Amino acid sequence: MKRFIAIANQKGGVGKTTTAVNLAASLAATRRRVLLIDLDPQGNATTGCGIDKTRLSRSSCEVLLGECAVEDALVPVELPMEQGTLTLLPANQDLTAAEVRLLSLPIGREIKLRQALETKRRDFDVIFVDCPPALNMLTVNALVAAESVLIPMQCEYYALEGLSALLATVEQIRVAANPGLSIEGVLRTMFDPRNNLANEVSAQLVAHFGERVFRTVIPRNIRLAEAPSFGKPALYHDRESRGALAYLALAGEMLRREDVANGLTRTSAVASPPEDTAGATAAAAAATAAAAPLGAPAGNGSGEELAAGAIREENS
Ligand code: ATP
Ligand code: MG
Repeated sequence: MKRFIAIANQKGGVGKTTTAVNLAASLAATRRRVLLIDLDPQGNATTGCGIDKTRLSRSSCEVLLGECAVEDALVPVELPMEQGTLTLLPANQDLTAAEVRLLSLPIGREIKLRQALETKRRDFDVIFVDCPPALNMLTVNALVAAESVLIPMQCEYYALEGLSALLATVEQIRVAANPGLSIEGVLRTMFDPRNNLANEVSAQLVAHFGERVFRTVIPRNIRLAEAPSFGKPALYHDRESRGALAYLALAGEMLRREDVANGLTRTSAVASPPEDTAGATAAAAAATAAAAPLGAPAGNGSGEELAAGAIREENS
C-alpha cells in the first residue's frame, strides 16, 4: 500500500467518495494517522465526515491557489472512540473557481497540490484524495501528488468505458511528472452477486487487471448509502453492517499487500489491539482479509460473501 493514494474514476457515482471516507475511517481504526483530501467541488467527502461545507473559512480551494498554508485549512474529524486520527482538508463549490484560475496559470498548475503538501506528508501515515468525476486539472493535481491511484468501478455495462482514458492519463502523468505513480488497485463497488452482468463484468476486470483487482468486493449496502446523511463513516453509523465490514476488509487487504511487498508476514492487521468494539471489529475484519492467501476466492467475511450477506441484510 502506498502512503498517498488518489481515488479516481472520471465516471460519476461509482463510489469514489464512499470509498475515500470509509477506507480513511477504517485505516484510522487501525490507529493510523489518516488525511483525507476532498478535491471535488461537490464537497461530498466533507459532508460525509460531518463537516458543513457551507461554512468553511478555508478549504482545498485556498490551499491549491497558494492563499493559505495547508495546516490552516485542516479540520480534525471527530472519531467516537479512541482511534488513530482522521483529518480532513475540506472542499466546497469554491473549488470550481480554483480550477478555472489554475487553468489560466502559464506554468506549474498541475503541481499545486504536491507543492502545498510537501512539508505535511510526514505528519500522516496515509493520505487519500477524493477526486471529482472528471479528468480535469483537479484530478491531474491529485495524480501528480499521489504515489498510486485506486480506481473504484461499478460492475455494469458501461463500466469499462472511459477506463482506457483514465489509464492513459495515469501513463501520461507517470511519464511527464510523476514516475513513481502506480495503480494501487481496481475496486469493485456496489456489487450485487445476483446480477449476471455484474458477475460478467467482474470477471472481465479480473481477466484484464489480474492481481490488481482487490479481492475484497464492496457490496451494495444501504448503511453505506445512508451514513453520509448522519455525517459519519459507516463504521460509526453501523459498525456491524456489511458495508462497514467490507471497507475494513479492504483496509486489511491493502495492509497485507503492503507486507507482502515488504517481505513480511502479517498475522494481525493492527499493531496494538484497540480497546473498543469498533476497533476490535476492525481488527477482526482486517485480519480476516489479511490472512487469506493471495488469489484465493474472496470468502470468510470478505468479497462476494460480504456482498451475498448484504443482499440477505437488505432483504430482511
Ligand atoms: P461522484 O462521481 O458524483 O463524485 P462517487 O464516485 O464519489 O460520485 P459516491 O458518491 O461514493 O460516488 O456514490 C454514489 C451514490 O451511491 C451515493 O448516493 C452513495 O451513497 C451510493 N453508494 C456508494 N457505494 C454504495 C454501496 N456500496 N452500496 C449502496 N450505495 C452506495
Ligand atoms: Mg464523489
